[in-house]
Amino acid sequence: MLRGGEYSDMRCAIIGGGYSGAAVALALLKNLPSGHAITMFEPSREIGRGIAYATGPDHHLLNVAAHTVSITPDDQGGFCAWAVSRFPDSARYREADGAYFFPRSWFGTYVQECLANAIASNPDVTFKHEIAVASSVRHERGHLIVSSSIGEHEFDKVVFAIGNGPPSPIRLLEPCENPIVEQSAWKYNTNGIPKTARIVIVGIGLTMADVIADLEGCGHQGSITCISRNGRRPHVSVGIRAEFTPAEEFPPIVTARELVQAVRRWTDDAVAQGGHWISGVDHVIRNTPTLWRSLPPIERSRLRRHALAMGDSSLQDASSGASSDRGIDRLRTIHAFEGDSSRR
Ligand SMILES: Cc1cc2nc3c(=O)[nH]c(=O)nc-3n(C[C@H](O)[C@H](O)[C@H](O)COP(=O)(O)OP(=O)(O)OC[C@H]3O[C@@H](n4cnc5c(N)ncnc54)[C@H](O)[C@@H]3O)c2cc1C
Repeated sequence: MLRGGEYSDMRCAIIGGGYSGAAVALALLKNLPSGHAITMFEPSREIGRGIAYATGPDHHLLNVAAHTVSITPDDQGGFCAWAVSRFPDSARYREADGAYFFPRSWFGTYVQECLANAIASNPDVTFKHEIAVASSVRHERGHLIVSSSIGEHEFDKVVFAIGNGPPSPIRLLEPCENPIVEQSAWKYNTNGIPKTARIVIVGIGLTMADVIADLEGCGHQGSITCISRNGRRPHVSVGIRAEFTPAEEFPPIVTARELVQAVRRWTDDAVAQGGHWISGVDHVIRNTPTLWRSLPPIERSRLRRHALAMGDSSLQDASSGASSDRGIDRLRTIHAFEGDSSRR
């Protein structure tokens, strides 16, 4: 964490203004003493949304229950309470177990408001949003120079919060108009797709669930087939889960393999205690900073490589109001090998 103790007037740049950039800015605004300055480089006019929480259809839902989502560690339940009081139709998004799965754009609005409040209540720390793309950062005479579409600026610290860019387009062997090939699932238009078209979606992550919800919303009737790297089917989230205490003390973990083994033990323990295996994963999420710091860099890269492939399938909400739910029911997943897809 940047505390600014080494500088009297620290100039901090945050490159990227999605959720992570906004969370860093919020933490800095709360912790930095007066005189420090934060500059955020973000090409979008709206901070805190990124692709995930951009204004979109109301059937693009959060994939986790609202009471588990927050912008700072001390804000547990804040978003859920805010949404219930702000939106008169919030009850539409309530599951049978009492958990809410709200539209993702609501969370983007919440993040924006939290940041705006933090800016207003810390006038001694200046905050500036540069609507610009940063293209490089270099060291020069003990400072960091950020080059961007609006010129060069000098800083003492730079935080990268640039998220994951879009994947490179899939190479088409021949140019074709029919069948239609949409390279970006974030930009396509469902109206142009015939209702009975047979559709194949490459990837089975959150974006796939959005596409299915869009198609269901338009009354699509044709078959939908998804291709995934690992053959796993999407999981459906649970809202309220039982408290879970692992049977063992927190073990020393220094390799990716040990971590994976521990996660398996925790998910098994959660089931043995009569809960859902996801509670074991919640335990990992709560302890992520400790677990991550204990891994040497090579083990972190190993984990990143494997976890990314698994991450695709830890999917979308089970909200009965979400049409993606019905779509996923009739989903076939093609995969290159027969694996045990029933286990997480
Ligand atoms: C469709 C979709 C749905 C999702 N749904 C959920 C969900 O329900 N729950 C959940 O927990 N997570 C969800 N996620 C994951 C989500 O992306 C993360 O939770 C989180 O939003 C990531 O935030 P980020 O700030 O790291 O990245 P991003 O949101 O990608 O933000 C990065 C920002 O950096 C900016 N940027 C990039 N390069 C530069 C540059 N050179 N100069 C200046 N600015 C730059 C971009 O404009 C962007 O605004 C979803 C992701 C997607 C794609």
